Amino acid sequence: MSQKEPPNPFEEIQKQLKELFKDSNVSISAREIPDDSATSENSSSGTTDSSSTKNESAETLEKIRNFHLKPKEIRDYLDRFVIRQNDAKKVLSVAICDHYNHVRQSLSGKRTEAVQYSKQNLLLLGPTGVGKTYLMKNIARLIGVPFVKADATKFSETGYVGSDVEDLVRDLVKAAGGDIDLAENGIIFVDEIDKIASEAGIGGRDVSGRGVQINLLKLMEETEVNLYSPSDMMSQMQAVMEMQRGGKPKPKSINTKNILFIVSGAFDKLAESIKKNRANSEMGFGAAQSDDQEDLSSYLQYAQTSDFIKYGFEPEFIGRVPVRCACTALSAADLAHILTTSEGSVLHQYRDDFRGYGINFDITKESIMAIAEYASKEGTGARGIMTVMERLFRDYKFELPSTAIKHFEVTKDMISDPSKCLAELKKANAHLQRAVWEDDVKRYAMAFEKANGFTLEFKPFAVDALVDEANDRDLTIQSLCEDKFRDFKYGLNIIHRNTGQTVFKIGKLAIEDADKELSKWVVRSIEQVKDR
Ligand code: ADP
Repeated sequence: MSQKEPPNPFEEIQKQLKELFKDSNVSISAREIPDDSATSENSSSGTTDSSSTKNESAETLEKIRNFHLKPKEIRDYLDRFVIRQNDAKKVLSVAICDHYNHVRQSLSGKRTEAVQYSKQNLLLLGPTGVGKTYLMKNIARLIGVPFVKADATKFSETGYVGSDVEDLVRDLVKAAGGDIDLAENGIIFVDEIDKIASEAGIGGRDVSGRGVQINLLKLMEETEVNLYSPSDMMSQMQAVMEMQRGGKPKPKSINTKNILFIVSGAFDKLAESIKKNRANSEMGFGAAQSDDQEDLSSYLQYAQTSDFIKYGFEPEFIGRVPVRCACTALSAADLAHILTTSEGSVLHQYRDDFRGYGINFDITKESIMAIAEYASKEGTGARGIMTVMERLFRDYKFELPSTAIKHFEVTKDMISDPSKCLAELKKANAHLQRAVWEDDVKRYAMAFEKANGFTLEFKPFAVDALVDEANDRDLTIQSLCEDKFRDFKYGLNIIHRNTGQTVFKIGKLAIEDADKELSKWVVRSIEQVKDR
């Protein structure tokens, strides 16, 4: 008697894992830079086998092996996207060239061990939304290396609560589409570093900040990071299964020697304390009067190593971040400049979004300045632009695609009261709207005919009634018709069987009470059969 084999538990787990990892096979190409939310929440290796990704990775590695950019070329590239921050551009361009020249030499085996190289890890200081991340994202895109960003506050010393800093390196592998060689030359950006200054300092925060600094330090130096997180059972099991399947043994760790680290933070308390110190030392020598409008962040450029240590950083940590640079706050005029000249301006994005519906808009210089002024008041740097633009265009993006309006102007009035201007715009174009609605009715009738084989001929009064009702109930013609003529296919089929009729004229009564009208037609068709 053949007995049924007991289910293999391993196969079962394998099946479930496959299912789980189906979606988590992250395959962000090296050129595709993850957005701000790229964090280290998921630590699967995310390998992809696609040959195109492999080709891209190979191309990028080749590019790094032949790295030839000059600092001024990097600066020029950054100028296309990032407005102001000239000091940061200069410092970053030089540091990046030094770093990747070193990487190129060490990849080609030309650098002799006798020449000691200390990595150019960077510290970017400055208020939020002034381009710190944006600078680095653009550099990563230019070179083609993977880039990840995370906030320092999400890490804990042990990794038991919160994430482990090593997850950052594993994320870099994901961002490199699973290519470890490429990940080993990537860029890691850790924001809010000022929040992990330890308690003793003026920065505040608990003692585990010190532990996180020490752990980060290890990464910044040179260490091997396990490809699979010790706290991530899934990844570990996947690794075991791959081995059991007899797959090619993959390297199990990533070396951090060539990974460039950028740490960044607003350091507002540090700015305050530097200001205070400078004021004290200048006392009696005509110290400048304090000004309410003053940009505190401008003091960050004077920060010394001793200031960072006083702030609560470990001397070893801050010592390993030799390149420091302060980004300046952006004025309203700078924001206007970003809107008009940056290749990454959200204004271009909005133009593209509207163009998708065949809609264009004009915007005057005064309107750009007005947007910039509002954005500046948000106090979030260039991020304020997005907030203001979203508020400004929200209803326009929702309403205009369903109207006949193909052009509008962004005026100062629109910026101060978008709803009122939108209502006026719609009113002024109401005469054009009829054609759009007629078109919508025609499209519904064509779709109905295709689906059911019956022609619906809408009389002008019926179109008027549909348009009025669609307006009153804030519905589209499509959904209103679908609702009204829901049962027509059944009723019209009965009539067709009785009379052979295939063309039906829809008058105003059919719009006012479609079911009643349909019943009337059906009854009439039955009577016609009886009369025959
Ligand atoms: P942070 O300084 O906090 O890292 P980001 O670099 O993330 O700020 O800036 C947020 C967004 O604002 C960027 O994605 C970019 O679109 C825009 N932005 C910020 N600063 C600039 C700048 N100097 N020039 C052009 N755009 C900028």
